[in-house]
Amino acid sequence: MAYTAWFECFNENCRKRYSLTEVIYNCGECGSLLQVVHDMDELSKTSAAEWVRLFDERRMRNMWPYGSGVWRLKEWVCPEVADTNVVSMFEGESNLFWAERLGAEIGLPDLWIKLCGNSHTGSFKDLGMTVLVSMVKQMKAEGKEIRAVACASTGDTSAALAAYCAAAGIQSIVFLPTGKVSNEQLIQPIANGALVISLDTDFDGCMKVVQKIAEDKTIYLANSKNSLRIEGQKTVSMEMAHQFDWDVPDVVIIPGGNLGNVSALGKGFLMMEKLGLIKKRPRIVCAQAEKANPLYRYYKTGFTNYAPIQAQKTYASAIQIGDPVSLEKAVKMLKEFDGIVEQASEQEIADACARGDKTGMYTCPHTGVALAALFKLVDRGVVRREQKVVVVSTAHGLKFSKFKLDYHERRLPDVESRYSNLPLHLPPDVDAVKRALDERLKG
Ligand SMILES: *Cc1c(COP(=O)(O)O)cnc(C)c1O
Ligand SMILES: [Zn+2]
Repeated sequence: MAYTAWFECFNENCRKRYSLTEVIYNCGECGSLLQVVHDMDELSKTSAAEWVRLFDERRMRNMWPYGSGVWRLKEWVCPEVADTNVVSMFEGESNLFWAERLGAEIGLPDLWIKLCGNSHTGSFKDLGMTVLVSMVKQMKAEGKEIRAVACASTGDTSAALAAYCAAAGIQSIVFLPTGKVSNEQLIQPIANGALVISLDTDFDGCMKVVQKIAEDKTIYLANSKNSLRIEGQKTVSMEMAHQFDWDVPDVVIIPGGNLGNVSALGKGFLMMEKLGLIKKRPRIVCAQAEKANPLYRYYKTGFTNYAPIQAQKTYASAIQIGDPVSLEKAVKMLKEFDGIVEQASEQEIADACARGDKTGMYTCPHTGVALAALFKLVDRGVVRREQKVVVVSTAHGLKFSKFKLDYHERRLPDVESRYSNLPLHLPPDVDAVKRALDERLKG
């Protein structure tokens, strides 16, 4: 069957279409954001049951490229790319962790954490980047001149771009705000051979520069403004539903910065609903750091009065963004999903991470933002005991060792480390060790 997809203007009064192989990020007519739209009539010719069977059959198998959690859904994601041009590192299929102990602590027995950080480069950004870099490979194969692929990043986008480009033999260029990404995030693109450009500004400043650089059409822009990435990221919804045997959770909580991911989450659920795989919608909660909360402020005005802000330094560095590119898309989705926006302070973020970790997770600060938002919603009775709740964990905690170590060693400024767990420093003496153990293990 001939499945097709195209870029379409997000502005309802325009809706101009462009080919996915065109180098374009905003509508040429009206300047609005673009979105990827699929030929839903063609997809509807296959029944929900047949789709479920197909996706089940391909799951975690060897047939290229369907073993990937993203490409298993190829017809729904990016039918335009030839299998031979897919650049995949078996992304997706991440664990949906039953947070039994944390859930018990907060009175929520049906709490789940979608561990998107368990991925090749340690964040959910892999889900979108596999689609974007595959399309670039396809465009190059068709003879288009693309010298490099570039992005501005708060750390994880650049890691994903650099890895996928390296695997495909394509040059990447990453713009990072100096001193605002973790060491682990900085070394990733360096190791993968990216041209790393460190700018004395914040993410929003890097974004402005890269957009200018990408006016040269031989330098392809890989930020989430490029809606190809959203197609890959939306598969997290399908995966989640599949992992619950096509049952839909009541609430999904996701941290938001540039807001591509929250719109992707909604897009995935809407597509499943349209094609008959699910019958109900979850409530979507977008969680922001108090220090970088333009969406939260907008939400508080009933989405009537938006103002970009200067984001302040936050431990949740990947969402330190003051003027999110995908704002409109996110707001539209939040309205469709009875959405809530919640925020978390630095203290709340740090404690939420530590509480999660004490029950077996290894949370990044952004996941901490989402967990802190959950704790507040449970306290307020907005999220209730009988509800099935999923928290989307966006990156692996191992990328944020300094933050975690500083917390436990009580070195985070302005944060009281309520759950700190310090190592015992003892002489190499068995009796001393025994005494210490007796002390620690009593009662
Ligand atoms: C990119 C990122 C986010 C935010 O996603 P947006 O699409 O920018 O809202 C959250 N957490 C982590 C770890 C990220 O890397
Ligand atoms: Zn338009």
